[in-house]
Amino acid sequence: MAKRVESPSSINTFKQCKRKYYYNYIEKLPSVSNIHQVRGNIAHSVLEDFYDIEVASFGEEYELKFKEAIQRLLVFNWKKYGPKLEGLGLNKDQEMFYFEETLLMVMNWVNHFLTDIKEKMDDDKISLVEAFQKLTPVREQEYRSDNYSVRGFIDAIQHLEEEVQIIDYKTNASFSMKASIKLQLGIYSLLYFEKHGKLPSKVGIFFLRHKLKMMDVDEELVELAKREIELIHGHTSLTEAKGDYPKTITPLCKWRTGQCDFYEACKPHEN
Ligand code: SF4
Repeated sequence: MAKRVESPSSINTFKQCKRKYYYNYIEKLPSVSNIHQVRGNIAHSVLEDFYDIEVASFGEEYELKFKEAIQRLLVFNWKKYGPKLEGLGLNKDQEMFYFEETLLMVMNWVNHFLTDIKEKMDDDKISLVEAFQKLTPVREQEYRSDNYSVRGFIDAIQHLEEEVQIIDYKTNASFSMKASIKLQLGIYSLLYFEKHGKLPSKVGIFFLRHKLKMMDVDEELVELAKREIELIHGHTSLTEAKGDYPKTITPLCKWRTGQCDFYEACKPHEN
């Protein structure tokens, strides 16, 4: 059987529950969209568009202008995702709650950005426009390795002097570099190495409710990624039979406010 092309998210699904992987990537059952995914997409689009802002006319009031600009981008993208948001069946109060929560996240992010750009202007003695250009990352880049049969979309690649930093944005509440995140960052490091022949210096997550958390890239992180990629290919290229993808029944099957996308198909709590 040919090797499937995996991604950090498919590998993490496989590690969480093989049956869930089977439903999602082999049987390709439709997954149910939820507000957390849609809002995550909106926040990503806002941060991607942010670096296209025309800043030449910002002048002394640049802090205010950046804040206004990011709010406009959020409103624009929220409208753009209107049909998807409508499909979620939220009432007006619920939608407003998530809009305001997302607004707090992007405002938090822009406050960190303002600290960075000010520091850049002061340290390098350069203009706002130059500092903005220097801080503009490569955005939403697809990396694909035929060798490892894996691919991923990297949110932001920042080139700072000699350093390359890879950053992913997350809207979830947790502020910890849990195993699934380390694996995702390890895979990005491996993909970057494959393409550019050198490892990024640091990788990290901008937790939009909190702040940026970075970690050094070392051999151990890359080896972890290689090991997990090898493990999944070892399994999925041998079999696609449902029975070979057992259920892992945990509280992630169903919780107080939601359930696994495939709960109805899986019926994990029935004999
Ligand atoms: S409901 Fe639970 S056991 Fe079933 S696929 Fe989802 S996570 Fe796996």
